[in-house]
Amino acid sequence: MLLVPCPNCGPRNQSDLRLVGESISRPDPNTASREEWGAYLYLRENVADWQTETWYCRAGCRTYFKAERNTATNEFRNPPMPGDKVGSGTYITPSVGQPQGEQS
Ligand SMILES: [Zn+2]
Repeated sequence: MLLVPCPNCGPRNQSDLRLVGESISRPDPNTASREEWGAYLYLRENVADWQTETWYCRAGCRTYFKAERNTATNEFRNPPMPGDKVGSGTYITPSVGQPQGEQS
């Protein structure tokens, strides 16, 4: 069982959340080339080390948040706190940033 540190609910079972994926920067739509868009949409680093990921607390507070996880050991570090900014992003509420295909 993997416990994921939700900033609002505390540690929760992984089955209560959804791993959205690696957190990556979105290119500027006015200047990005086709290759940059393709890389943004389809390419991921997939490292066996620490990476920043976006998670969605689907069974709890229904909030998107970022967390740092070691993909080799499944350890979390610097667990997010309510109102924290992790990495370059901020928390995204489902009404603002719900990805397509998300089941409610
Ligand atoms: Zn939560």
